[in-house]
Amino acid sequence: KRPAYCPPDVESLGRATWTFLHTTAAYYPESPTPTQRAHMLQLLHALPQLYPCSHCANDLGTRIQRQPPDVRSRTALAAWLCATHNEVNVMLGKPIFNCSRVDERWKDGPQDGSCD
Ligand code: FAD
Repeated sequence: KRPAYCPPDVESLGRATWTFLHTTAAYYPESPTPTQRAHMLQLLHALPQLYPCSHCANDLGTRIQRQPPDVRSRTALAAWLCATHNEVNVMLGKPIFNCSRVDERWKDGPQDGSCD
């Protein structure tokens, strides 16, 4: 395991970025204003330009073109992000995440209170 003070590699950058994106989606409004929708679209469309892993950025750009982000509501955005992350999981040979548990994972925590 690399020491925590090392610059991020593709894996740790990815984990941090997914954490940011899923958590931001979890707290996005259910009825976003036009301005909030525009900001979310700007954030997601900036990633293929700026994400500091060029092959990841190119791959995400292709996915966004094929299946554009759905920013109409919190539920729609969380579902789009979960599906997009699952596409990356499949590409990398990782397990598929059950998207019905996305709020439990990123917002509410498990019912047994173990994360409280
Ligand atoms: P991660 O995939 O980082 O997931 C973190 C946690 O999110 C998991 O532990 C799980 O609890 C949860 N989770 C998993 N799937 C979902 C889901 N579908 N919805 C909600 N929550 C979920 N790496 C490459 O090698 N090549 C690439 O092209 C590449 N492209 C990437 C593109 C983007 C936009 C990002 C953010 C990352 C990319 N990565 C890429 C990194 C890769 O996706 C992983 O982040 C990295 O390999 C670490 O994987 P991990 O197993 O720790 O879990």
